[in-house]
Amino acid sequence: MADDRQHGFATEAIHAGEIHDATGAHIAPIYQTSTFTFADMEAVEDWADGKTEAYIYSRGGNPGRKALAEKLAALEGFGLDPAGQPVAEIFASGMAAISAAIMGTAKAGNHIITQQVLYGSADHLISDVLPDFGITNSRVPGLEAAALEHELRSHQNTTAVYLETPANPTLRVIDIATTARIAHEHGAQLIVDNTFATPALQRPLSLGADVVVHSTTKYINGHGTIVGGAVVSTDSDLMENEIASLIRFTGGVPGALDCWLANLGLKTLPLRMSRHCSTAMQVARFLEDHPAIVTVHYPGLPGHPQHDVAARQMADFGAMLAFDAGSYEAATSFLNRLNLCTLAVSLGNLDTLVEHPASMTHRVVPPEQRAASGISDGLIRVSVGLEDPADIIADLDRALGG
Ligand SMILES: *Cc1c(COP(=O)(O)O)cnc(C)c1O
Repeated sequence: MADDRQHGFATEAIHAGEIHDATGAHIAPIYQTSTFTFADMEAVEDWADGKTEAYIYSRGGNPGRKALAEKLAALEGFGLDPAGQPVAEIFASGMAAISAAIMGTAKAGNHIITQQVLYGSADHLISDVLPDFGITNSRVPGLEAAALEHELRSHQNTTAVYLETPANPTLRVIDIATTARIAHEHGAQLIVDNTFATPALQRPLSLGADVVVHSTTKYINGHGTIVGGAVVSTDSDLMENEIASLIRFTGGVPGALDCWLANLGLKTLPLRMSRHCSTAMQVARFLEDHPAIVTVHYPGLPGHPQHDVAARQMADFGAMLAFDAGSYEAATSFLNRLNLCTLAVSLGNLDTLVEHPASMTHRVVPPEQRAASGISDGLIRVSVGLEDPADIIADLDRALGG
């Protein structure tokens, strides 16, 4: 609807894709059903002839899943030319979405190029699982332009470049527009994991990326109640012929309740992100000045090595940060002394979650590779929540022995 594009981002977050069914229910019902009925055989024939559209079976499609996909596509496509509006598909997890995005763009015999530091399970998928299916990979530490071009020239069978920015857990920032341009010059597509930033802060499709993936488990749902994922793309051929078929035939579909919860969470995304970001900036400044801390990694701090890139491609700097407590022992005693902040993996929840990559999310990564990726033994990752900033800071300060 051309009309919708005159609305702002927060309005789209609330209204895009919403179901208004015949009952007049204000909030969409949860279509908690595995199958859908046909009135009679004529309805079957009409559907088979393409005269009518129908829901048949919830692996193929469910109204709540479609509604969530439409809302997320509207947000990732916000500001794009109406002709370039993306399509989305919702998955049972972020990893199901990432697998589909990669398998949709790379087949046996193809190559993908990615950065050094990645979300742990994406790292494992790319380096240990996909090679068994004939999809090889190579790494360029920060996808630096010259090195990436060299890698693309040495692997003519590259069909996709995969990046994550800001990256987990070191908050390294990668230039999306430059990477997209270089990938395209060599006939490869660009996939961007937009989980940390969300479309409220960063819209990779408008910077030239072809595919966006999300773990909706995180900020999209925002309340820590589900595991979910999404693929969004402006490439309709890829979406119709590859992604739609991958979700249907590998079957990583989300449940109706999970879609409903993610849709509900997404409505407050702009509001939550704005508060998440302002609190994270306060926490980052506090940590930066703290004598017990060696380094703070937050793209919003002017000293962050890619601060300029972040300022150019993000509307704000997000609420993920990491800092180096100095050693494994210092990190352990800090974590044991936290009171308000929660010791847990995952991120993007209402409350502040703190974790230790070396012993938790990146435990399986060999120590040499962790070191090469900048994951020191003292590194602590913080997902800054929506509590009062002073309370978060006081808890961190106390745990740091301040
Ligand atoms: C959590 C996460 C994933 C994986 O998502 P799941 O929903 O856990 O499968 C991928 N990328 C990033 C950046 C994440 O934070």
